[in-house]
Amino acid sequence: MASLGFRPEIDPDTGESYLAVEQRGVDLLKNPLLNKGTAFSESERDDFGLWGLLPAHVSSIDEQVDRFMEQYSLKTTDLGRNIELNGLLDANETLFYRVVSENLEALVPIIYTPTVAAACARWSRIFRRSRGIYITPRDRGRMVDVLRSRPKWPRPVIVVTDNERILGIGDQGAGGMGIPIGKLALYAAAAGIHPARLVPISLDVGTENEELLDDPLYLGWRQRRLRGDEYDAFIAEFVDAVKEAYPGALLQWEDFANLTSFKNLETYRHDVLSFNDDIQGTAAMVVAGLLAATRHIGGKLTDHRVVVVGAGSAGIGIRDQVAAAMVAEGADPDVAAGRIFVLDSRGLIVEGRPDLSAAKQRLAVPTAAITNWQISDHPIGLSDVVRNARASVLIGVSGVAGIFNQEIVARMARYVDRPIIMPLSNPTTHAEVTPENALAWTGGRAVVATGSPFPAVTHRDRTHHIGQANNVFVFPGMGLGALAVGAGEVTERMFLAAARALAGTVGDEMLSTGRIVPPITEAPEASLVVARAVAEQAVRDGVAEPSEDLEAQIHAAHWTPEYLPYRPA
Ligand code: NAD
Repeated sequence: MASLGFRPEIDPDTGESYLAVEQRGVDLLKNPLLNKGTAFSESERDDFGLWGLLPAHVSSIDEQVDRFMEQYSLKTTDLGRNIELNGLLDANETLFYRVVSENLEALVPIIYTPTVAAACARWSRIFRRSRGIYITPRDRGRMVDVLRSRPKWPRPVIVVTDNERILGIGDQGAGGMGIPIGKLALYAAAAGIHPARLVPISLDVGTENEELLDDPLYLGWRQRRLRGDEYDAFIAEFVDAVKEAYPGALLQWEDFANLTSFKNLETYRHDVLSFNDDIQGTAAMVVAGLLAATRHIGGKLTDHRVVVVGAGSAGIGIRDQVAAAMVAEGADPDVAAGRIFVLDSRGLIVEGRPDLSAAKQRLAVPTAAITNWQISDHPIGLSDVVRNARASVLIGVSGVAGIFNQEIVARMARYVDRPIIMPLSNPTTHAEVTPENALAWTGGRAVVATGSPFPAVTHRDRTHHIGQANNVFVFPGMGLGALAVGAGEVTERMFLAAARALAGTVGDEMLSTGRIVPPITEAPEASLVVARAVAEQAVRDGVAEPSEDLEAQIHAAHWTPEYLPYRPA
């Protein structure tokens, strides 16, 4: 593997941390991992041959942040802002993460959802500089060499997509690369994973997106998607290559289509340290919100009847983790299964429904749970489910805007004092109900968390803050915790531990304003809490060695965006 060109050192005499750096002059200025731009000190300008290549004044990083934000303020569209931020990422990573860390609330929606969707859709047109690794079917037989072409720290974090189901906008071909880049930026910004450890990968196995196939500027592999055995063999070679090129790496599967997402996760989860954020991260976020909400309104999770609308990656993951959380509270597994009702586009998934695939049969609520139901129609629709089940929790991961209508929401409020309503579908226009309507139709009693950011709602003189159930509270901390203890596997219990720890960060004061998940500005603190809980659980589950000093291990794996002094290697 090519050298990274630097190594962290500590001066034995002074105890000062510094980087021993191989590059010089223009090469150093062009390396985004090492470039400090106008912040190179005078002695560094001497040591690295930088005189004449920079203006005279030596800036502090704070001055650089101010200068960048002034330029950023000139951008008039969110896509323009996204391009500007990616330009900074490609020029100076330390400054990029400093800027993002200081402006999380404003910038996370620009570097990630919702703006990243527009960036993915226009990828081949806004492309400037390559980042990450693209692997195509032409690379079969040499994937391990392809992975080695970009030097990385040992045990990196990989976010990989095959681009087929990018957010809610479908197959984006090579443009899906925007997602691994955006998610990995959040690993660094929220959990302090060093940028040299981040590896975005696009498995560019072709696309069915006709617009892209016809676009003369399209940059991807201009073929129909690889399918069937050829696709499976491609993924198998990729996983083997990851194990060989990056032993101990953490692999996050991201935005695969429904069937492949489950298949890849199940096939490789015990083989390589890996998880799927759409399935498991989302579910942990929901369980965290539910645990915080039940603490606020009283009772236990097991007391609730949970209706999940949407049986895709998110819905299935949520169903499984809510059931696991109920069992962890002491519920019998059959009782838990009878308290969670999942609907797909054809209605309630119940035992004996004739069209159920093998995967969906596993989600089916037992017929015994609906014996006494009064049903107006078959298959059983949302209205019948909410009424008969006396739903107390309603979770939307269907992508269908407005499906939680007034009749359904108001009916919930008739049976339960504090209905918990989570319209999680993204982007904003796909939300199953707006927080404003959810509160209006329940007389202000609903406890609401959303997938996209929404402003606070004032109902009868009371202001309700709307928490955004953003997975950024889970996956960066999961990565930090798993890497810090060298976990060999990501277990389901590690996600439950993450959910519980996250719920614990939602204080009573926050709950009293209506929030059941923290504001995005608290993601860095929450990530450390999640990382600790995950690491402890990994040890309990026997997938990591017991640690003498867990805190020190997490601290050692954690990076902050500051310039270290450089000395010639
Ligand atoms: P997916 O395409 O895998 O699943 C969508 C499911 O909804 C499918 O099973 C489909 O059959 C079902 N559906 C469609 N119409 C329906 C209807 N009328 N009634 C009931 N079900 C219906 O997508 P996914 O990955 O599961 O994501 C679903 C949504 O959740 C997306 O909008 C996504 O943005 C959002 N999401 C939010 C978060 C979060 O807020 N943290 C995380 C992940 C996903």
